[in-house]
Amino acid sequence: MNRADPLSYLGARLAEWKSAGTYQRLRILEGPSAAESRFDGKDVINLASNNYLGLTTHPKLIEAAIAATRKYGAGSGAVRTISGTMELHMELERRIAQFKNVEACVVFQSGFTANAGTVSAVLTPEDHIVSDELNHASIIDGCRLSRAGIHVFPHKDHAAAERILEELRDAPGRRLLITDGVFSMDGDIGPLPELVAAAEKHGAIMMVDDAHASGVLGRNGRGTIDHFGVHGRVDIQVGTLSKAIGVLGGYVCGSRDLIEYLYQRARPFLFSTSHPPAVAAACIAAFDILEQEPERIERLWSNTRYFKQQLAAEGFDTGMSETPITPVMVGEAARAFRLSAELFREGVLATGIGFPTVAKDKARVRTIVTAAHTTEQLDRALESFRRAGRLLGLI
Ligand SMILES: *Cc1c(COP(=O)(O)O)cnc(C)c1O
Repeated sequence: MNRADPLSYLGARLAEWKSAGTYQRLRILEGPSAAESRFDGKDVINLASNNYLGLTTHPKLIEAAIAATRKYGAGSGAVRTISGTMELHMELERRIAQFKNVEACVVFQSGFTANAGTVSAVLTPEDHIVSDELNHASIIDGCRLSRAGIHVFPHKDHAAAERILEELRDAPGRRLLITDGVFSMDGDIGPLPELVAAAEKHGAIMMVDDAHASGVLGRNGRGTIDHFGVHGRVDIQVGTLSKAIGVLGGYVCGSRDLIEYLYQRARPFLFSTSHPPAVAAACIAAFDILEQEPERIERLWSNTRYFKQQLAAEGFDTGMSETPITPVMVGEAARAFRLSAELFREGVLATGIGFPTVAKDKARVRTIVTAAHTTEQLDRALESFRRAGRLLGLI
């Protein structure tokens, strides 16, 4: 066989990214994800995980996963609708619904499939979606899959969102107003009270993706709906089990009918195998810990306040952040990747993020402190930021 490789253009693109300094090499984690971890043979302070509460290595989660594996096996054997609904899956859904104080909950394989599967299932091509420009990629994909009309409003501009709803007043079909609770790249919080009011005024479905707010904001980490006190006014609440919860998965909370409908029509639910028992059991243990160990969330926030204050005192631009996600704004992607590389040499893992994840001139190094970091670790990380920041002329 000596035909030309029809995929050779991919190699050409990779070479372009490498010469532009925007190619992302995977760092290999050798051991657990923790406050200090070993990547590529080097021990570093880990400011690049979503393990907000340090639950990935909590003994109760690990024990629950092992016990469930012994009792139920390594895999579930099928998709939920065929024979892959185990009692642990139902228990987890009841546990989350109770925690969120909603009628019902459905768990998906990931937050990504929860968003994409839900938006595409509840809307049709006759409908309209009004969506924040910085909403997560899984929401964008869900919108596209639904083939509904997509109307993007400027970031957090609730007045613009309301104007779009107003303009759509006489259009046929339903409207969905959708926002992230906490925005994953900037760490700012969506204007829920204003958006909820706009949705109510115009009869729109209100949906909030609380991936970065679950376990972080609200009482015991109940999310932005609890943070703002807008209970009962958000029709579709999405959360993830992959971030603060420390395991893997996503969920949708809402009315019993919404959840029953998703059981019947959400494509990732119907066509992709359910979680292994270990995952469901570890998640259940994590919700117990949210209620039993609130000091973890307090520690997360005191670490967050300290780290932000110190970065700002050094003269770094930390953008619009209001949560433990703290970007250090840099500008060009190549420079962000350079800062990230310098930090790694210094013993700190903080990811450079550039286009297409964020806008071309908004590249940054993103940091996320966790409840598991000690002040000594944060001070060492800050010292590294100071040296690397001076080297690159950022401060
Ligand atoms: C991470 C994230 C998701 C996806 O969650 P996974 O469980 O990792 O698939 C969805 N939405 C937002 C806003 C996120 O930050």
